[in-house]
Amino acid sequence: MSKNGLLINYEYCTGCHTCEVACQQEHDFPVGKCGIKVTEYVYAADKKPVAVDFMPFVTELCDLCIERNRNGELPACVKHCQSFCMSFGPIDQLAAQMQKTPRSALFAPW
Ligand code: SF4
Ligand code: SF4
Repeated sequence: MSKNGLLINYEYCTGCHTCEVACQQEHDFPVGKCGIKVTEYVYAADKKPVAVDFMPFVTELCDLCIERNRNGELPACVKHCQSFCMSFGPIDQLAAQMQKTPRSALFAPW
């Protein structure tokens, strides 16, 4: 059986940081620690910003919300992402889904 992971489609990530807040509240992490970190990339031309990308990175503190998963619940970050750009499930299924979402990243914490 395939291990679980997270697929993040950053085409639609708005950089709202809700995933970080949801993760911190779920795990009671102290300030500065989190299972996910949203990074901002600014692209510039002629020294003027022309585009911004937001890329959520899963950190080593992510346990894929194993307790929630045992109770049949989605990971806190996936549940609360208002852009619906995060998916949780078996890595092989997420990898197949990824072929239809080219601007995406697949995270397998273990
Ligand atoms: S799956 Fe759970 S532990 Fe991992 S980043 Fe999301 S909320 Fe945090
Ligand atoms: S909650 Fe969703 S839209 Fe907001 S920063 Fe996280 S991944 Fe991006």
